[in-house]
Amino acid sequence: MPDNLPEALVSLRKDANQFINEVLLPLDREIDDEQGVPRVVQEKVRQASRGAGFFYKTQPAEYGGDPAGPLELTMLRETWAAANCRLTQYIFGPGPGILHAATGDMKKNYLDPVLRGDKRGAFGFTEPDSATRPSWARIEGESMLINGQKSYVTGGATADFVSVLVNVEYKDGSKAGTAMVIIDREVEGVKVEHEFSSMEGGGHVSLVFEDVRVPLANVIGKLGEGMPRALGNIGNVRMMVSAQAVGMCVWTLEFIEKHLLAPHRTGTPLGEREGVRLRFADMRIETYVARSALYRTARLAETGENIVNETIATKVFCTEAAGRIVDMGVQLVGGHGLVRGHPLEKLYREVRSLRLVEGASDLLRINLVKGRLELEKGRI
Ligand SMILES: Cc1cc2nc3c(=O)[nH]c(=O)nc-3n(C[C@H](O)[C@H](O)[C@H](O)COP(=O)(O)OP(=O)(O)OC[C@H]3O[C@@H](n4cnc5c(N)ncnc54)[C@H](O)[C@@H]3O)c2cc1C
Repeated sequence: MPDNLPEALVSLRKDANQFINEVLLPLDREIDDEQGVPRVVQEKVRQASRGAGFFYKTQPAEYGGDPAGPLELTMLRETWAAANCRLTQYIFGPGPGILHAATGDMKKNYLDPVLRGDKRGAFGFTEPDSATRPSWARIEGESMLINGQKSYVTGGATADFVSVLVNVEYKDGSKAGTAMVIIDREVEGVKVEHEFSSMEGGGHVSLVFEDVRVPLANVIGKLGEGMPRALGNIGNVRMMVSAQAVGMCVWTLEFIEKHLLAPHRTGTPLGEREGVRLRFADMRIETYVARSALYRTARLAETGENIVNETIATKVFCTEAAGRIVDMGVQLVGGHGLVRGHPLEKLYREVRSLRLVEGASDLLRINLVKGRLELEKGRI
């Protein structure tokens, strides 16, 4: 338990663990490991989550939500991840994400249906290495014509629309900066070039845009605001990834502790060997440091101060620590830790992507130092 959580959060954490033990784990035991999670089970989790109030924690109050602050959200996300249970992903209701400030038709056609659960959006930011030019849009009257490609759009195969980062230019070729634009998946000129999955189980598409016509009203915010809009929510998402990473560390420590105390074929538990104890000590030390960073940054976020650099430091450290800890967990369990269906095997596949999503570690390091050397930002 992280130190000095307010009493209300200590109590909420207890409820969250009770929800996992009494609702999720029994449902999880009914699922065939080779199949995905059946829709009916997903819906049962959402239904139970509505009843318990967790569903509303990521939804704005004007939509009937009960939005959690950064510390509460961090605590809940860490708790879900520390359960290492595939059903936790269905607990929270859909949040507004990049559409949070939408008004008028954009609110009516996209934000409202997303929050009701009637529509799903995907995010198109990453460009393929083969791109000769980043995706671009040319303004023509009240619409824009979009060309280009995006290479790693998670959930793009089933999304109703994709929010895409483009470079905008006027008809005469002069530049209008970047913009985030909503493109409906079914509109003419949008092609799925390739559908693929990654090792943690995520499904993705690469998309090609060929003369896709989109009304100017589909620009999120204003022209020129594309990059800040795309990155606007990223602090929150990086904290989410950090909390996931720390939850994975916590689950691994608990699992390994039991393993080290259990009988071993040599006649004495592994935990009696000094060399094994040293490895376990490192796992505990790194988890302690990662968790401390996570909660310190969440508390800073509560104050509303600028924590861009602290969030970067937290994301890099927590995700890299989780990679080392899960890897060492497999090492201490031995070959069984890699058998398909073993909870560590699943975690091993999941942990790798955290060092790439929402900013690859080294790019974040570069941003952190830029913040320091060029802008004098960032706490120690
Ligand atoms: C599971 C998963 C889900 C994803 N979902 C989405 C999504 O929904 N939408 C989306 O748009 N993208 C998504 N991505 C893509 C993700 O954002 C990118 O993989 C990530 O940003 C890295 O970009 P890249 O793959 O193009 O690698 P590159 O940018 O080519 O970088 C590869 C490596 O090169 C090195 N490198 C690159 N540039 C520099 C530099 N300037 N200085 C030093 N080193 C450098 C780093 O080691 C870096 O890790 C997803 C990725 C994963 C794994």
